[in-house]
Amino acid sequence: MDTTRQVVILVGGRGTRLGNLTDENPKPLLPVGDRPFLSYLLDTIIRQGFDKIVLLAGYRSAQIADFVAAYDAHGADIRIVTETEPLGTGGALYNALDQLDQQFILMNGDTLFDINLNAFAAPQLAPALCRLALRTVDDTSRYGRVTLQHGHVNSMAEKGVAGEGLINGGIYLLDKAAIAGIGAGFCSLENEVFPELLAQGRLTGLEYSNFFLDIGIPVDYDLAQTAIPALADRPAAFLDRDGVINEDSNYAHRPDQIRWIPGAFEAVRLLNDSGYNVFVVTNQAGIARGMYDALAVNQLHDWMQQEFRRHGAHIDGFHFCPHHPEFDTACDCRKPEPGMLIAATAAMPSRLQGSFLIGDKDSDIQAANRFGIPGHSFQGDENLRDFVARIIEK
Ligand SMILES: [Mg+2]
Repeated sequence: MDTTRQVVILVGGRGTRLGNLTDENPKPLLPVGDRPFLSYLLDTIIRQGFDKIVLLAGYRSAQIADFVAAYDAHGADIRIVTETEPLGTGGALYNALDQLDQQFILMNGDTLFDINLNAFAAPQLAPALCRLALRTVDDTSRYGRVTLQHGHVNSMAEKGVAGEGLINGGIYLLDKAAIAGIGAGFCSLENEVFPELLAQGRLTGLEYSNFFLDIGIPVDYDLAQTAIPALADRPAAFLDRDGVINEDSNYAHRPDQIRWIPGAFEAVRLLNDSGYNVFVVTNQAGIARGMYDALAVNQLHDWMQQEFRRHGAHIDGFHFCPHHPEFDTACDCRKPEPGMLIAATAAMPSRLQGSFLIGDKDSDIQAANRFGIPGHSFQGDENLRDFVARIIEK
């Protein structure tokens, strides 16, 4: 099965719990810090490589459309499906049936649950039809408690059960077959579809303790004003390519030439899970030498990204320098110059504090130092994940 590409977001609710705050705005567009909440949510989805987004709109949908028109989706396709009357979560989804991939992620548009979506979606669903991302909390009484047994959801209780436990985090991996039988009209996933799947043993769950905030609750909307901008302020991990994530095999530029360094996928996944933006910064003088072109490098990087995603990881940006001083005038991107690090953090703002680079040559380390961050020399004599784990433990 191909990697999951599609994320569907429920943005059509009225948001009654927030009182008059949502009189003029749909809840996902409420300001958090200096921009709408939905922009943070879309940023976290798109940076992980999901390039098909469907917004299930209803209440004040014209404002959702205006927002999407102005939003920089970095090439992702964002569609809006609007319900003409409130259909509930299941009804809104069924209303968009012809837009859905066979397997897709569904999430609430008022919650930021910062999980690794590639890892969540990586294994195939069958024979389950729905996988829930569950959040451990100190007290489940404000939510509904969920219990798991051997990875299968055992019960989904109503609100009011106190004490530590698991709650539904509002992110689901769904097979289209789970909703094909809903039919037109009002339907609640939580009250109608999930209990049925649970009874059939076709509802599974994964536990997480990652950042979780539901802005639909007034006290958490206040908290979001500082907590969500802080979450988006991530450090960067810059990785040299040849000699760090794949063996340096003399101007590799095709997938069949790539031999992965042991632990490469696991290392990037650890960085993803630990809250780093991960950038590949690579000198590709083979372009200046006429051995291959920039298109070949971009195609190779697209393939590498798919391989990372299949392994539950993602790269936030690939940056390469096509120059060589023998063939070009001096550039500011070829390492030891820091130009690629500057470009990467211009495209995706990252904080310097806690950022670092891993490279196998002196020029890598020099580029890091000129940028103002430490560089770590990797010589291939250790599993890359273990190497990364030691750096980020410090
Ligand atoms: Mg290298």
